[in-house]
Amino acid sequence: MMRKIEHLGIAVKDLEVAKQTYETLLGKSAYQSERVESEGVETVFFKTVESKIELLGATQDDSPIAKYLEKRGEGLHHIAFDVADIEAEIERLKSEGFQLISDQPKAGADNKRIVFLHPKSSHGVLVELCEEIKD
Ligand code: ZN
Repeated sequence: MMRKIEHLGIAVKDLEVAKQTYETLLGKSAYQSERVESEGVETVFFKTVESKIELLGATQDDSPIAKYLEKRGEGLHHIAFDVADIEAEIERLKSEGFQLISDQPKAGADNKRIVFLHPKSSHGVLVELCEEIKD
């Protein structure tokens, strides 16, 4: 079950410039910046009352975000839904015929285990499932 929109991910060319824009827009500072080396991405997170905004900037020319920016430019990149049990949700969606980019959750930014659905499965929108890592 998808519990809520956990965050919206926005691909940006210049993370520092975008961070300042969103600090002004939202009237608050980012609460976290994090590099995910395996994905070649750097992320900046903002909290709103209910959900978050994630800015995504490329750290390598060949990373998925760099390729996305090259092809489609800046803009809304994905919608992330909060789930309680990511394995159960992966199984449910696979059994419903959704195509996932990977079958196994991996470590994402902001203390999450994540997995992506192929945009073909969700009418052109990249969907991320994320489960909070409890420690
Ligand atoms: Zn995300």
